[in-house]
Amino acid sequence: MLCYIGGSESEGHFSLINEACSMFAHTNPLHLDVFPSIVRFEAEVVAMTAALLGSKEKGSGGQICGNMTSGGTESILLAMKSSRDYMKTKKGITKPEMIIPESAHSAYDKAAQYFNIKLWRVPINKEFRADVKAIKRHINRNTILIVGSAPGFPHGIIDPIQELGELATSFGICLHVDLCLGGFVLPFARKLGYPIPPFDFSVKGVTSISVDVHKYGLAPKGTSVVLYRNHDIRKHQFVAVTEWSGGLYVSPTIAGSRPGGLIAGAWAALLSLGEEGYLESTKRIMEVSKRIQKGIKEIPELFIIGRPDMTIVAFGSDVVDIFEINDVMSSKGWHLNALQRPNSIHICVTLQHEPIVEDFLRDLMESVKTVKENPGPISGGLAPIYGAAGRMPDRGMVQELLVNYMDSTC
Ligand SMILES: *Cc1c(COP(=O)(O)O)cnc(C)c1O
Repeated sequence: MLCYIGGSESEGHFSLINEACSMFAHTNPLHLDVFPSIVRFEAEVVAMTAALLGSKEKGSGGQICGNMTSGGTESILLAMKSSRDYMKTKKGITKPEMIIPESAHSAYDKAAQYFNIKLWRVPINKEFRADVKAIKRHINRNTILIVGSAPGFPHGIIDPIQELGELATSFGICLHVDLCLGGFVLPFARKLGYPIPPFDFSVKGVTSISVDVHKYGLAPKGTSVVLYRNHDIRKHQFVAVTEWSGGLYVSPTIAGSRPGGLIAGAWAALLSLGEEGYLESTKRIMEVSKRIQKGIKEIPELFIIGRPDMTIVAFGSDVVDIFEINDVMSSKGWHLNALQRPNSIHICVTLQHEPIVEDFLRDLMESVKTVKENPGPISGGLAPIYGAAGRMPDRGMVQELLVNYMDSTC
């Protein structure tokens, strides 16, 4: 859906990553002894990511550790599984429950279903942040974990991680911070002087973090990192089988065999961009985000949801149907995410948007005007495609559409 890098500069980046991926396409870190290079790449990606998120700070405990995974969802699944089993050992909890803000990603529902954890999704406060008091009211002796996002996917707003850390510490439970979206932006934004509240392992009480290298890390799709405060928690992530006729089998992740090529690709992305590269792209997207926020504020029919902390800007309307605006925007070639509670849409700002901010704002203004002048449903979605063919598309037509679509998405 999203390409987090754009413009002509992306070509060199993509070709380097592609080269790294193809050089190591046939490697597999499951066989540690056969592919020591991949083991090293993974360890270095984890170490570099951890260093960005407080592993070197005083108070981190000096034991931050983790693994690479296939994406944010797998990082979250593993953190939930490890926390569940850690809390079983630590507190004897056998009927685990976890509490998340309404804005937390649906991957937590997936984890709850996969790992048999009871899930409480509690409303957020008026600022669209996790409501710490409401979360506290749901804590009981079966609670294993609470979650904060920095920022949350829907509105791009950072939950009060410090307060959640205090809550988790006082009840002796785990706190997972979802940095899938923010992990490769916030450390740089903070360094650049933007006001960013605490969000990483420097906060007491944070026990695990998920961070996607394949989003703002600008690494190939299929790369993320899960980090833990210490080995005591992470050891519950591993499955070790000693009784199998296939021999000793140890696997840290959900997948057994894993694509070493993607690990090499992520390593190449981190190394080639370096701190300077991320600082530069962060500065640029933060400025684009500000420009977009300012532009939306100038459209009287629209309002921005809360105060966006980063590069995701959600907006709605009390006057026009925001989903109709979304339909008109789609017809103009924009792909925005539809949100609910309240009905709204968001734009996730990337380098691709830098040269077209003004086009975006102009199209948005025009869409508002169109919807205001023509209230009522506007045809969109798949209907025109089916309509043109007068039937469900056949294979040839889908192939043709695929080719057409290649220009508008990555
Ligand atoms: C993207 C995202 C996820 C899930 O990551 P996938 O890579 O799509 O599996 C989880 N949490 C947040 C905040 C995200 O932005």
